[in-house]
Amino acid sequence: MPTKLVVGNWKMNLSVAQASALVTALTDDLSARPNVDVVVCPPYLSIPRVKELTRNTHVKVGAQDVFWVEEGAFTGQVSSKMLHDQCVDYCLVGHSETRGKFGKLEVPESTIGFFAETDETVNLKIKALLYYGLVPILCVGETLAEREAGRTEAVIETQVKGALEGVESAELYSFVVAYEPVWAIGTGQTCESEEAGRVCRFVRSTIASVSSDDAAASVRVLYGGSVKPTNSDELFAQDGIDGGLVGGASLEADGFARIVLSAS
Ligand code: PEP
Repeated sequence: MPTKLVVGNWKMNLSVAQASALVTALTDDLSARPNVDVVVCPPYLSIPRVKELTRNTHVKVGAQDVFWVEEGAFTGQVSSKMLHDQCVDYCLVGHSETRGKFGKLEVPESTIGFFAETDETVNLKIKALLYYGLVPILCVGETLAEREAGRTEAVIETQVKGALEGVESAELYSFVVAYEPVWAIGTGQTCESEEAGRVCRFVRSTIASVSSDDAAASVRVLYGGSVKPTNSDELFAQDGIDGGLVGGASLEADGFARIVLSAS
């Protein structure tokens, strides 16, 4: 069974000074809990400082996004090569806030991602990360409308298969996938734990269908969406859930440490 993993996504929050204070408090809180892998994903500007402050701790650092081309005229983008240069270990890909249907106004506003990321660009980003030895944390999940239409499995299957197109089984051994129902992100509405476990197991079987049982068994499948210290014990106890991707609740050291404890 893979070591459990808890990832904190700080999103577009915290100055460099605030990020430094948070990670210092967190590494103090976590100093006695090395049996869970812990990753924090600060905004790009805080990565060098957070990297420095986590040296000699078991907390690893992730980025929140990446562009797939190495360098060139791509204003505002950061490449996998640049993340590798900063010794970044992990990177989120396909978060519901970066996926989307930008410009297609018939889509309900609440489901529009901000950066028009598609399964194809997610796939390109994953390949760019693997090339430089970073671990992708692939986010997948259905909107409320898709769930209500009974399309949860179809959506997850399309996202997982699209993301892994052309990725070798051997490259999946350190891979992470986070099942994040879009309707549960930042809403306080958590997916019922047994249902979260069921969909996470479906994610793993979908991975197995395009790779091998061994590779799929080694992938860590996380649940994300309003994970809090009050629900993390129950969520992480579910068969098929190898930890969590935590947004809002990762911005407070004691609460996040409590969530990590649930996984240990
Ligand atoms: C996320 O941003 O990936 C997330 C799960 O956010 P929250 O925990 O705030 O719902």
